[in-house]
Amino acid sequence: MEVYLDNNATTRVAPEVLEAMMPFFKSEYGNPSSMHRIGGRVKKYIDKARERVAALLNADPSEITFTSCGTESDNTAIRGAVEAAPDKRHVITTRVEHPAVLGMCRYLHKYNYRVTELSVDKEGMLDLDELRNAITGDTAIVSIMWANNETGVIFPIDEIAQIVKEKGVVFHTDAVQAVGKVPIDLKKTPVDMLSISGHKLHTPKGTGVLYRRKGVKIAPLIIGGHQEEGRRAGTENVPYIVGLGRACDLAAEHMEDENTRVRSLRDRLENTLLNTCPDTRRNGNAERRLPNTSNISFEYIEGESILLMMDNIGIAASSGSACTSGSLEPSHVMRAMGVPFTAAHGSIRFSLSRYNTEEEIDYTAAQMPPIIERLRELSPFVK
Ligand code: PLP
Repeated sequence: MEVYLDNNATTRVAPEVLEAMMPFFKSEYGNPSSMHRIGGRVKKYIDKARERVAALLNADPSEITFTSCGTESDNTAIRGAVEAAPDKRHVITTRVEHPAVLGMCRYLHKYNYRVTELSVDKEGMLDLDELRNAITGDTAIVSIMWANNETGVIFPIDEIAQIVKEKGVVFHTDAVQAVGKVPIDLKKTPVDMLSISGHKLHTPKGTGVLYRRKGVKIAPLIIGGHQEEGRRAGTENVPYIVGLGRACDLAAEHMEDENTRVRSLRDRLENTLLNTCPDTRRNGNAERRLPNTSNISFEYIEGESILLMMDNIGIAASSGSACTSGSLEPSHVMRAMGVPFTAAHGSIRFSLSRYNTEEEIDYTAAQMPPIIERLRELSPFVK
């Protein structure tokens, strides 16, 4: 059996998405910027995809820009905002962002921007007073993720956006992990910019969106032709854009399933593992969490060893540590949450999708305890 529980890393392509894309690899090869009808036909499909993305967010289609990935969307939002406000030299983010955000902020730091990285508590939650106090007249942008990719922890984006907007500062949220898993209504939540990545939503890798509220000024990252109204140059990746539009329809359709069936599968796996494997703990706030994500620490053993043994029996997940230059370093998210070293090392992220079945979850829940027991027998850290 092959069980894929690594959906926060990437997802399988939905058959409906692939089907929607196919004509654009065959007969519909026109350039949407062309004057002739072959191009014009294709342009209509891009317009339709833009409407579909906008509908998922309750936004206006004119606020949607197609990009190549979530990373490009994050980079464009942050770099574009600071470039558009040259008199401001301060950026605020959090210590638990994806490298697409943290890396860009740290890059700006090299160019004499002041960067505030807000801390999180042991459950991965922010202190909103720390945010309030950090915003100054010099702040160009605040970028705070909607949901964390490692723990699934959801930040209170409504409240955060209100705080930032009251101070008149631009607010960006990396919603790559949240879109399709939690309802998002941008008519109600005053975010200025929001990033999406297609491959977390069952499209192929290499497509994304930056939502930008009307009137928010940013400089483009990619400069050239007039595509996307000059906001993002480069001939459009038509099949992928069409696929992303279809994926957004499906995400809306399956949101209910995500929050009921997927959530209950996740809870069933998590509760079984916490109850059957000794010395385990859940990482991240239990309530304010994506319905598909469970991050569990198996203390005193290394996550990578667990992953290897899981892989041997066909179960795919991720660990909260990464092998850098031969030593296993707990992830920046685990460190920011202050997860003790022996627990951070043994943390595993299980992330589900609508394609997972009960049978797969029960198989995983049954296979894990003997793996953990075996590794504990070999561990030099066991008490
Ligand atoms: N932001 C978050 C929270 C992510 O989880 C990821 C991907 O893992 C990204 C951004 C980057 O998206 P992409 O892989 O499309 O560049």
